[in-house]
Amino acid sequence: MNVNAFSSGGLRAFGGCLFVLLFSLAGISCAEAVPAQSEYVIGTVCTVNLYEKGTKAAYKDIFDRLREIEARMSANADGTEVDAINKSAGVAPVAVHEDVRAVVKAALRFAALSGGALDPTIGPVVKLWNIGSDDPRVPSPAELKAALPLVDWKDVVVDDAAGTVFLKRAGMKLDLGAMAKGYAADEVARIIAKHKIPRAIVDLGGNVMAVGEKQGGEPWRVGVQDPSSERGNHIGILPVKNKTLVTSGIYERFFEADGKHYHHILSPRDGYPVENGLISVTIVADRSIDADCLSTATFALGLEAGRKLVESLPGVEAIFIDTDFRVTITPGLAGTFRITDDRFTLKKD
Ligand code: ADP
Ligand code: MG
Repeated sequence: MNVNAFSSGGLRAFGGCLFVLLFSLAGISCAEAVPAQSEYVIGTVCTVNLYEKGTKAAYKDIFDRLREIEARMSANADGTEVDAINKSAGVAPVAVHEDVRAVVKAALRFAALSGGALDPTIGPVVKLWNIGSDDPRVPSPAELKAALPLVDWKDVVVDDAAGTVFLKRAGMKLDLGAMAKGYAADEVARIIAKHKIPRAIVDLGGNVMAVGEKQGGEPWRVGVQDPSSERGNHIGILPVKNKTLVTSGIYERFFEADGKHYHHILSPRDGYPVENGLISVTIVADRSIDADCLSTATFALGLEAGRKLVESLPGVEAIFIDTDFRVTITPGLAGTFRITDDRFTLKKD
C-alpha cells in the first residue's frame, strides 16, 4: 500500500506506477561502487543510481534528505509544516523551513503563469475526492460548491523576511502533491553535485532526473511510458543529457465509479477531474520543480493553452498525448523524440 505523502488525497489506490521508464542504464560496472538504491519515500518508490561513484555516504545523504522533505511537506500527516499552515489558515502566518517556502513560491509562480489552472490551494477539493485512498468517492455538487471558494492561490502569502506562509481564509488547505516531487528531485541532484558525482539517474516515482551523460559521452535514453496502461510499455524514447522528465496523466491515480473514470488532476474551476482530450503530458526541463509544476499545469490547461505556455518558457519542452493516441511535441524535440509504438502517431500541424 502506498501513501501519497504530499497530496491531501491520502492512500494511493495502486502502487508505484512509473510513467517514465528508464532503460539502457546498465553497462557500467565498478567493483567498489554501491549499487542503485530504492526506497519507499515521499509517497512513491524512489530509485537512485549513482553508477561507478555510488558510495554509502552519498546514498545516505540523498535518502535522508528525501525523508526530511516528506516530513515537512506531506498534506495528510499530522505534524508536518504544511499541516501546520493548513491548521492556521485564516488565523496566523506559520514559520516554516525554506524548503516549504521554495515549493510554495514555485507553485504560486506557475499558478500565475497558468491563470490558476495549477493551484496549490486545491486541498479542500482533493480531500473531498480522496482519490488514491482506499475510499475515493464522487463528491456531491453541494460539497464541491462549498469547497471551491476556498481554492484561490492569490490568498497565499509567503513572507521570506519573516520566514512564514499564511493562508488568508479559514478552511483553505495547501496541497503540494503536484510540485513536491520535482523539488525533491532537484535537491537530490544538488546532493549528487556536492558529492562530485558526474552521472546519475534519479527516479522518484516516474519523476526522472538524468544527471550528466552516460559513460562515453552518450545521452541517457529515457522512455516515455504508454499513458494508456498503468505501467510497462513505453511509447517512445528521448535522448537527454542533464535534463528532467516529468509526466502527469490520467492513469497515475484514479478510481472508477458507475463505469466512469475519475483521475486526480482536478479543475480549480469546477472541482471535477479535468477532461480535455489529453491523457498525459510529459515536460522536459532543466529543473524538476518547474517540470512538475508544468506537467500538472499544462495537463489542466489542455493542449493549445498548455503548448503556448511551454513555448513561452526557454529551455522547456513538452510531449502531449491525446485520447486518440496522437502525440504533439514542442519544436525543440523535433528530430530527437522518437515514437517506438506504432499505435501512437506524431501529430503535424
Ligand atoms: P503525481 O503527483 O501523481 O506525479 P501530478 O504532479 O500531476 O501527479 O500532481 C497531481 C496531484 O496534485 C494530485 O494528486 C493532487 O494532489 C494535486 N492536484 C490536483 N489537481 C491540481 C491542480 N489543478 N493544481 C494543483 N495541484 C493539483
Ligand atoms: Mg506535477
